[in-house]
Amino acid sequence: MKNQNIYKNMGISDELFAFGESVLLDLEERFKQIDQNAEYNQMKVISAMQKNRVDAACFAESTGYGYDDVGRDTLERVYADCFNTEDALVRPQITCGTHALSLALSANLRPGDELLSPAGKPYDTLEGVIGIRSSPGSLAEYGVSYRQVDLLPDDSFDFDKIREAINEKTKLVTIQRSKGYQTRETFSVEKIAGLIKFVKEIKPDVICMVDNCYGEFVETVEPSDFGADMIVGSLIKNLGGGLAPSGGYICGTKKCIENCGYRLTAPGLGKEVGTNMGMMRQFYQGLFMAPTVVAGALKGAIFAANIYERLGFKCVPNATESRHDIIQAVELKTPENVIAFCKGIQAAAPVDSYVTPVPGDMPGYESQVIMAAGAFVQGSSIELSADAPLREPYAVYFQGGITWAHAKLGILKSVQEMLDEGLINL
Ligand SMILES: *Cc1c(COP(=O)(O)O)cnc(C)c1O
Repeated sequence: MKNQNIYKNMGISDELFAFGESVLLDLEERFKQIDQNAEYNQMKVISAMQKNRVDAACFAESTGYGYDDVGRDTLERVYADCFNTEDALVRPQITCGTHALSLALSANLRPGDELLSPAGKPYDTLEGVIGIRSSPGSLAEYGVSYRQVDLLPDDSFDFDKIREAINEKTKLVTIQRSKGYQTRETFSVEKIAGLIKFVKEIKPDVICMVDNCYGEFVETVEPSDFGADMIVGSLIKNLGGGLAPSGGYICGTKKCIENCGYRLTAPGLGKEVGTNMGMMRQFYQGLFMAPTVVAGALKGAIFAANIYERLGFKCVPNATESRHDIIQAVELKTPENVIAFCKGIQAAAPVDSYVTPVPGDMPGYESQVIMAAGAFVQGSSIELSADAPLREPYAVYFQGGITWAHAKLGILKSVQEMLDEGLINL
Protein backbone atom coordinates (compact mmCIF):
# COMPACT_ATOMS: atom_id res chain seq x y z
CA MET A 1 0.00 0.00 0.00
CA LYS A 2 1.24 3.49 -0.83
CA ASN A 3 2.89 5.35 2.08
CA GLN A 4 2.84 2.27 4.30
CA ASN A 5 6.61 2.34 4.78
CA ILE A 6 6.81 5.93 5.92
CA TYR A 7 4.09 5.26 8.49
CA LYS A 8 5.99 2.19 9.63
CA ASN A 9 8.99 4.46 10.22
CA MET A 10 6.68 6.64 12.31
CA GLY A 11 5.76 3.66 14.49
CA ILE A 12 2.43 2.68 12.90
CA SER A 13 2.06 -1.08 12.34
CA ASP A 14 1.11 -2.42 8.92
CA GLU A 15 -2.08 -3.81 10.37
CA LEU A 16 -3.18 -0.49 11.88
CA PHE A 17 -2.25 1.41 8.74
CA ALA A 18 -4.38 -0.96 6.66
CA PHE A 19 -7.26 -0.56 9.11
CA GLY A 20 -7.00 3.25 8.78
CA GLU A 21 -6.98 3.07 4.99
CA SER A 22 -10.06 0.83 4.97
CA VAL A 23 -11.90 3.33 7.18
CA LEU A 24 -10.88 6.15 4.85
CA LEU A 25 -12.32 4.38 1.82
CA ASP A 26 -15.79 4.87 3.29
CA LEU A 27 -15.19 8.57 3.94
CA GLU A 28 -14.44 9.70 0.41
CA GLU A 29 -17.84 11.28 -0.17
CA ARG A 30 -17.80 13.19 3.10
CA PHE A 31 -14.29 14.45 2.55
CA LYS A 32 -15.34 15.66 -0.88
CA GLN A 33 -18.16 17.64 0.71
CA ILE A 34 -15.72 19.18 3.20
CA ASP A 35 -13.36 20.17 0.38
CA GLN A 36 -16.25 21.81 -1.44
CA ASN A 37 -17.12 23.87 1.64
CA ALA A 38 -13.47 24.86 2.01
CA GLU A 39 -13.40 25.89 -1.63
CA TYR A 40 -16.47 28.07 -1.13
CA ASN A 41 -15.02 29.72 1.98
CA GLN A 42 -11.68 30.22 0.25
CA MET A 43 -13.48 32.25 -2.42
CA LYS A 44 -15.14 34.35 0.28
CA VAL A 45 -11.74 35.18 1.76
CA ILE A 46 -10.03 35.92 -1.55
CA SER A 47 -12.94 38.02 -2.71
CA ALA A 48 -12.85 40.13 0.50
CA MET A 49 -9.09 40.59 0.16
CA GLN A 50 -9.35 41.63 -3.49
CA LYS A 51 -12.21 44.01 -2.85
CA ASN A 52 -10.17 45.80 -0.19
CA ARG A 53 -7.03 45.90 -2.32
CA VAL A 54 -4.78 44.07 0.14
CA ASP A 55 -1.14 44.72 -0.75
CA ALA A 56 2.34 44.51 0.76
CA ALA A 57 1.87 47.83 2.58
CA CYS A 58 -0.77 46.09 4.74
CA PHE A 59 1.90 43.84 6.23
CA ALA A 60 4.07 46.67 7.60
CA GLU A 61 4.59 46.98 11.33
CA SER A 62 3.20 50.04 13.06
CA THR A 63 4.34 51.38 16.42
CA GLY A 64 3.13 53.56 19.27
CA TYR A 65 -0.45 54.77 18.87
CA GLY A 66 -0.80 53.06 15.53
CA TYR A 67 -2.55 56.06 13.91
CA ASP A 68 -3.58 55.48 10.30
CA ASP A 69 -2.52 51.88 10.44
CA VAL A 70 -3.40 50.75 6.93
CA GLY A 71 -2.80 47.05 7.63
CA ARG A 72 -5.05 47.03 10.69
CA ASP A 73 -7.85 49.07 9.16
CA THR A 74 -7.83 47.10 5.90
CA LEU A 75 -7.84 43.76 7.76
CA GLU A 76 -10.92 44.84 9.68
CA ARG A 77 -12.68 45.70 6.42
CA VAL A 78 -11.65 42.30 5.02
CA TYR A 79 -13.18 40.55 8.04
CA ALA A 80 -16.34 42.64 7.80
CA ASP A 81 -16.79 41.77 4.12
CA CYS A 82 -15.92 38.13 4.60
CA PHE A 83 -18.51 37.74 7.37
CA ASN A 84 -21.09 40.04 5.88
CA THR A 85 -21.09 42.63 8.67
CA GLU A 86 -20.87 46.42 8.75
CA ASP A 87 -17.63 46.52 10.70
CA ALA A 88 -15.08 44.44 12.61
CA LEU A 89 -12.49 44.66 15.34
CA VAL A 90 -9.53 42.31 14.77
CA ARG A 91 -6.64 42.97 17.10
CA PRO A 92 -3.53 41.40 18.60
CA GLN A 93 -4.48 43.26 21.82
CA ILE A 94 -7.43 40.88 22.22
CA THR A 95 -5.62 38.15 24.11
CA CYS A 96 -7.97 35.17 23.68
CA GLY A 97 -11.54 34.10 23.02
CA THR A 98 -12.71 34.84 26.54
CA HIS A 99 -11.27 38.35 26.28
CA ALA A 100 -13.07 38.95 22.97
CA LEU A 101 -16.38 37.76 24.46
CA SER A 102 -15.87 39.79 27.64
CA LEU A 103 -15.08 42.83 25.52
CA ALA A 104 -18.17 42.42 23.33
CA LEU A 105 -20.41 42.04 26.39
CA SER A 106 -18.99 44.80 28.57
CA ALA A 107 -18.83 47.21 25.63
CA ASN A 108 -22.52 46.86 24.86
CA LEU A 109 -24.13 46.43 28.27
CA ARG A 110 -24.81 49.24 30.76
CA PRO A 111 -25.83 49.20 34.42
CA GLY A 112 -29.44 48.07 34.73
CA ASP A 113 -29.32 46.04 31.52
CA GLU A 114 -29.94 42.32 31.50
CA LEU A 115 -28.00 39.64 29.64
CA LEU A 116 -29.89 36.53 28.53
CA SER A 117 -28.44 33.15 27.61
CA PRO A 118 -31.34 31.32 25.92
CA ALA A 119 -29.34 28.15 25.21
CA GLY A 120 -28.13 27.03 28.61
CA LYS A 121 -24.95 27.56 30.53
CA PRO A 122 -22.22 29.39 28.62
CA TYR A 123 -18.56 28.34 28.38
CA ASP A 124 -16.82 27.91 31.76
CA THR A 125 -14.63 30.99 31.54
CA LEU A 126 -17.67 33.20 30.94
CA GLU A 127 -19.02 32.37 34.38
CA GLY A 128 -16.44 34.73 35.85
CA VAL A 129 -17.07 37.36 33.17
CA ILE A 130 -20.82 37.40 33.75
CA GLY A 131 -20.57 36.92 37.52
CA ILE A 132 -22.38 33.55 37.69
CA ARG A 133 -19.25 32.69 39.65
CA SER A 134 -18.37 35.77 41.68
CA SER A 135 -15.28 37.42 40.21
CA PRO A 136 -13.76 40.90 40.57
CA GLY A 137 -14.75 43.09 37.61
CA SER A 138 -17.61 40.86 36.50
CA LEU A 139 -20.66 42.27 34.73
CA ALA A 140 -22.63 41.59 37.92
CA GLU A 141 -20.38 44.03 39.81
CA TYR A 142 -21.29 46.69 37.23
CA GLY A 143 -25.01 46.15 37.79
CA VAL A 144 -25.72 43.96 34.76
CA SER A 145 -28.14 41.17 35.65
CA TYR A 146 -28.14 37.74 34.06
CA ARG A 147 -30.84 35.29 33.14
CA GLN A 148 -30.52 31.82 31.62
CA VAL A 149 -32.97 29.48 29.94
CA ASP A 150 -31.80 25.88 29.82
CA LEU A 151 -32.22 23.63 26.82
CA LEU A 152 -35.00 21.05 26.82
CA PRO A 153 -33.98 17.43 27.49
CA ASP A 154 -33.67 16.80 23.74
CA ASP A 155 -31.28 19.79 23.40
CA SER A 156 -33.83 21.95 21.60
CA PHE A 157 -34.55 25.56 22.56
CA ASP A 158 -37.26 26.13 25.18
CA PHE A 159 -39.08 28.80 23.19
CA ASP A 160 -41.86 29.30 25.76
CA LYS A 161 -39.40 30.00 28.56
CA ILE A 162 -37.29 32.22 26.31
CA ARG A 163 -40.36 34.31 25.52
CA GLU A 164 -41.07 34.63 29.24
CA ALA A 165 -37.46 35.52 30.03
CA ILE A 166 -37.26 38.45 27.60
CA ASN A 167 -38.28 41.63 29.43
CA GLU A 168 -37.85 45.39 29.25
CA LYS A 169 -34.32 45.11 30.68
CA THR A 170 -33.11 42.49 28.21
CA LYS A 171 -30.40 44.19 26.17
CA LEU A 172 -28.21 41.42 24.84
CA VAL A 173 -28.70 37.74 24.04
CA THR A 174 -25.65 35.48 23.97
CA ILE A 175 -25.69 32.24 21.98
CA GLN A 176 -22.82 29.77 22.04
CA ARG A 177 -22.46 27.88 18.78
CA SER A 178 -20.07 25.12 19.86
CA LYS A 179 -20.89 22.71 22.65
CA GLY A 180 -17.47 23.42 24.16
CA TYR A 181 -17.00 20.82 26.88
CA GLN A 182 -20.69 20.17 27.42
CA THR A 183 -22.52 17.12 26.17
CA ARG A 184 -25.18 18.88 24.11
CA GLU A 185 -24.88 18.98 20.34
CA THR A 186 -23.29 21.93 18.60
CA PHE A 187 -25.85 24.23 17.00
CA SER A 188 -25.94 24.53 13.24
CA VAL A 189 -26.02 28.04 11.79
CA GLU A 190 -29.57 27.27 10.67
CA LYS A 191 -30.67 26.58 14.26
CA ILE A 192 -28.99 29.73 15.52
CA ALA A 193 -30.68 31.69 12.74
CA GLY A 194 -34.05 30.40 13.92
CA LEU A 195 -33.34 31.43 17.49
CA ILE A 196 -32.21 34.91 16.47
CA LYS A 197 -35.36 35.37 14.39
CA PHE A 198 -37.52 34.28 17.31
CA VAL A 199 -35.80 36.64 19.75
CA LYS A 200 -35.95 39.60 17.35
CA GLU A 201 -39.65 39.07 16.72
CA ILE A 202 -40.25 39.50 20.44
CA LYS A 203 -37.80 42.36 20.91
CA PRO A 204 -36.39 43.79 17.65
CA ASP A 205 -33.74 46.03 19.24
CA VAL A 206 -32.12 43.31 21.37
CA ILE A 207 -28.46 42.66 20.48
CA CYS A 208 -27.80 39.04 19.44
CA MET A 209 -24.21 37.94 20.01
CA VAL A 210 -22.85 34.55 18.94
CA ASP A 211 -19.81 32.92 20.54
CA ASN A 212 -18.46 31.60 17.25
CA CYS A 213 -15.43 29.75 18.68
CA TYR A 214 -14.53 26.56 16.77
CA GLY A 215 -17.43 27.05 14.34
CA GLU A 216 -15.89 29.40 11.78
CA PHE A 217 -15.74 28.06 8.21
CA VAL A 218 -17.21 24.68 9.20
CA GLU A 219 -20.24 25.62 7.10
CA THR A 220 -20.50 28.00 4.16
CA VAL A 221 -22.62 30.45 6.15
CA GLU A 222 -22.02 32.15 9.50
CA PRO A 223 -24.49 33.44 12.12
CA SER A 224 -23.76 36.99 10.90
CA ASP A 225 -25.44 36.05 7.61
CA PHE A 226 -28.65 35.60 9.60
CA GLY A 227 -28.98 38.65 11.78
CA ALA A 228 -26.39 38.12 14.52
CA ASP A 229 -25.31 41.60 15.63
CA MET A 230 -21.91 40.30 16.72
CA ILE A 231 -19.92 37.12 16.08
CA VAL A 232 -16.93 36.65 18.35
CA GLY A 233 -13.91 34.36 18.45
CA SER A 234 -10.23 33.68 18.98
CA LEU A 235 -7.44 33.84 16.41
CA ILE A 236 -5.60 30.88 17.92
CA LYS A 237 -8.58 28.82 16.84
CA ASN A 238 -10.12 28.53 13.37
CA LEU A 239 -9.65 31.97 11.83
CA GLY A 240 -5.98 32.36 12.68
CA GLY A 241 -5.34 29.42 10.37
CA GLY A 242 -2.57 28.25 12.71
CA LEU A 243 -0.44 31.26 11.76
CA ALA A 244 -1.77 34.04 14.01
CA PRO A 245 0.37 34.07 17.17
CA SER A 246 -2.36 35.76 19.25
CA GLY A 247 -5.51 37.83 18.88
CA GLY A 248 -9.26 37.81 18.68
CA TYR A 249 -12.03 39.19 16.49
CA ILE A 250 -15.51 40.66 16.72
CA CYS A 251 -17.51 41.22 13.53
CA GLY A 252 -20.81 43.04 13.76
CA THR A 253 -22.94 46.12 13.35
CA LYS A 254 -21.34 49.54 13.16
CA LYS A 255 -22.80 50.53 16.51
CA CYS A 256 -21.73 47.38 18.38
CA ILE A 257 -18.20 47.45 16.96
CA GLU A 258 -17.86 51.15 17.73
CA ASN A 259 -18.71 50.37 21.36
CA CYS A 260 -16.19 47.52 21.36
CA GLY A 261 -13.50 49.88 20.08
CA TYR A 262 -14.19 52.37 22.88
CA ARG A 263 -14.05 49.60 25.43
CA LEU A 264 -10.87 48.01 24.05
CA THR A 265 -8.91 51.27 24.06
CA ALA A 266 -10.69 54.22 25.69
CA PRO A 267 -13.86 56.28 25.28
CA GLY A 268 -13.09 58.90 22.65
CA LEU A 269 -10.22 56.91 21.13
CA GLY A 270 -11.86 53.68 19.97
CA LYS A 271 -10.65 51.92 16.85
CA GLU A 272 -8.37 54.78 15.81
CA VAL A 273 -5.52 53.58 18.01
CA GLY A 274 -3.74 50.28 18.58
CA THR A 275 -0.49 49.19 16.96
CA ASN A 276 -0.61 46.05 14.87
CA MET A 277 2.51 44.74 16.66
CA GLY A 278 3.92 43.45 13.39
CA MET A 279 1.40 40.62 13.23
CA MET A 280 -0.46 41.68 10.10
CA ARG A 281 1.08 39.27 7.62
CA GLN A 282 0.26 36.32 9.88
CA PHE A 283 -3.30 37.61 10.40
CA TYR A 284 -3.94 37.99 6.67
CA GLN A 285 -2.21 34.77 5.71
CA GLY A 286 -3.87 32.93 8.58
CA LEU A 287 -7.32 34.00 7.41
CA PHE A 288 -6.31 32.99 3.88
CA MET A 289 -5.30 29.52 5.13
CA ALA A 290 -8.23 29.11 7.54
CA PRO A 291 -10.73 27.40 5.17
CA THR A 292 -8.18 24.69 4.31
CA VAL A 293 -6.98 24.34 7.89
CA VAL A 294 -10.54 23.96 9.19
CA ALA A 295 -11.19 21.34 6.49
CA GLY A 296 -8.15 19.36 7.67
CA ALA A 297 -9.29 19.53 11.29
CA LEU A 298 -12.79 18.41 10.29
CA LYS A 299 -11.44 15.42 8.36
CA GLY A 300 -9.37 14.48 11.41
CA ALA A 301 -12.43 14.66 13.66
CA ILE A 302 -14.50 12.51 11.30
CA PHE A 303 -11.67 10.01 10.79
CA ALA A 304 -11.31 9.67 14.57
CA ALA A 305 -15.03 9.13 15.11
CA ASN A 306 -15.05 6.40 12.48
CA ILE A 307 -11.92 4.69 13.80
CA TYR A 308 -12.93 4.79 17.45
CA GLU A 309 -16.54 3.80 16.85
CA ARG A 310 -15.28 0.71 15.03
CA LEU A 311 -13.10 -0.03 18.04
CA GLY A 312 -16.23 0.00 20.22
CA PHE A 313 -16.10 3.48 21.79
CA LYS A 314 -18.89 6.04 21.89
CA CYS A 315 -18.10 9.15 19.89
CA VAL A 316 -19.76 12.58 20.08
CA PRO A 317 -20.56 13.54 17.35
CA ASN A 318 -20.85 9.97 16.08
CA ALA A 319 -19.28 8.59 12.91
CA THR A 320 -22.03 9.75 10.56
CA GLU A 321 -23.57 12.91 12.09
CA SER A 322 -23.21 16.27 10.37
CA ARG A 323 -20.57 18.61 11.81
CA HIS A 324 -20.94 22.15 13.11
CA ASP A 325 -17.62 22.59 14.90
CA ILE A 326 -14.19 20.93 14.91
CA ILE A 327 -14.35 19.28 18.34
CA GLN A 328 -14.49 15.50 18.70
CA ALA A 329 -15.21 13.68 21.95
CA VAL A 330 -14.42 9.98 22.42
CA GLU A 331 -15.55 8.13 25.53
CA LEU A 332 -12.60 5.87 26.29
CA LYS A 333 -14.07 4.08 29.33
CA THR A 334 -10.87 3.83 31.41
CA PRO A 335 -8.16 6.21 32.67
CA GLU A 336 -5.50 3.97 31.10
CA ASN A 337 -7.07 4.45 27.68
CA VAL A 338 -7.24 8.21 28.14
CA ILE A 339 -3.58 8.46 29.11
CA ALA A 340 -2.50 6.23 26.21
CA PHE A 341 -4.60 8.30 23.77
CA CYS A 342 -2.96 11.53 24.91
CA LYS A 343 0.50 9.97 24.73
CA GLY A 344 -0.17 9.04 21.11
CA ILE A 345 -1.35 12.55 20.17
CA GLN A 346 1.72 14.04 21.85
CA ALA A 347 4.08 11.61 20.13
CA ALA A 348 2.71 12.71 16.74
CA ALA A 349 3.42 16.41 17.33
CA PRO A 350 6.01 18.39 15.37
CA VAL A 351 6.96 20.24 18.58
CA ASP A 352 7.58 18.64 22.02
CA SER A 353 7.05 15.13 20.61
CA TYR A 354 9.51 13.70 23.15
CA VAL A 355 7.42 14.86 26.10
CA THR A 356 5.12 12.44 27.95
CA PRO A 357 1.85 13.99 29.11
CA VAL A 358 0.78 13.08 32.65
CA PRO A 359 -2.45 13.88 34.54
CA GLY A 360 -2.25 16.83 36.90
CA ASP A 361 -4.36 19.11 39.07
CA MET A 362 -5.85 22.15 37.37
CA PRO A 363 -7.41 25.20 39.00
CA GLY A 364 -11.18 25.00 38.74
CA TYR A 365 -11.34 21.25 38.15
CA GLU A 366 -12.23 18.67 40.77
CA SER A 367 -10.62 15.75 38.97
CA GLN A 368 -7.17 15.59 37.46
CA VAL A 369 -6.79 16.66 33.85
CA ILE A 370 -4.44 15.38 31.16
CA MET A 371 -3.51 17.40 28.09
CA ALA A 372 -1.60 16.68 24.92
CA ALA A 373 -0.32 19.52 22.75
CA GLY A 374 2.76 20.01 20.68
CA ALA A 375 1.99 23.37 19.21
CA PHE A 376 3.89 26.14 17.44
CA VAL A 377 1.66 28.65 19.26
CA GLN A 378 1.14 28.11 22.98
CA GLY A 379 -2.36 26.87 23.77
CA SER A 380 -3.39 26.97 20.11
CA SER A 381 -6.28 24.59 19.69
CA ILE A 382 -6.50 24.80 15.92
CA GLU A 383 -3.30 22.78 16.18
CA LEU A 384 -3.77 19.09 17.04
CA SER A 385 -4.50 18.95 20.75
CA ALA A 386 -6.39 16.81 23.25
CA ASP A 387 -7.49 17.15 26.83
CA ALA A 388 -9.48 15.04 29.24
CA PRO A 389 -10.62 15.23 32.84
CA LEU A 390 -9.89 11.88 34.51
CA ARG A 391 -13.42 10.98 35.50
CA GLU A 392 -16.38 8.99 34.16
CA PRO A 393 -17.01 8.41 31.27
CA TYR A 394 -13.33 9.08 30.58
CA ALA A 395 -14.08 11.22 27.56
CA VAL A 396 -11.21 12.78 25.71
CA TYR A 397 -11.89 15.96 23.74
CA PHE A 398 -9.68 16.65 20.84
CA GLN A 399 -9.54 19.14 18.04
CA GLY A 400 -7.42 20.69 15.39
CA GLY A 401 -4.65 19.62 13.11
CA ILE A 402 -3.24 22.32 10.87
CA THR A 403 -2.93 19.71 8.15
CA TRP A 404 -5.08 16.66 7.58
CA ALA A 405 -2.00 14.42 7.33
CA HIS A 406 -0.91 15.47 10.80
CA ALA A 407 -4.37 14.89 12.25
CA LYS A 408 -4.35 11.43 10.64
CA LEU A 409 -0.95 10.59 12.12
CA GLY A 410 -2.07 11.78 15.57
CA ILE A 411 -5.14 9.57 15.54
CA LEU A 412 -3.21 6.54 14.30
CA LYS A 413 -0.55 7.12 16.98
CA SER A 414 -3.23 7.30 19.67
CA VAL A 415 -4.60 3.92 18.56
CA GLN A 416 -1.10 2.46 18.26
CA GLU A 417 -0.28 3.51 21.82
CA MET A 418 -3.38 1.73 23.11
CA LEU A 419 -2.50 -1.37 21.05
CA ASP A 420 1.09 -1.37 22.30
CA GLU A 421 -0.09 -1.18 25.89
CA GLY A 422 -2.43 -4.11 25.29
CA LEU A 423 -5.52 -2.04 26.08
CA ILE A 424 -7.39 -2.77 22.85
CA ASN A 425 -7.30 -5.15 19.88
CA LEU A 426 -7.87 -4.44 16.21
C1 LIG B 1 -12.33 28.33 23.42
C2 LIG B 1 -13.67 28.84 23.68
C3 LIG B 1 -13.88 30.01 24.43
C4 LIG B 1 -12.78 30.76 25.12
O1 LIG B 1 -11.65 30.94 24.40
P1 LIG B 1 -10.21 31.10 25.07
O2 LIG B 1 -9.43 31.56 23.90
O3 LIG B 1 -9.78 29.78 25.59
O4 LIG B 1 -10.31 32.14 26.12
C5 LIG B 1 -15.17 30.45 24.57
N1 LIG B 1 -16.21 29.77 24.06
C6 LIG B 1 -16.05 28.63 23.36
C7 LIG B 1 -17.24 27.92 22.84
C8 LIG B 1 -14.77 28.14 23.15
O5 LIG B 1 -14.62 27.00 22.46
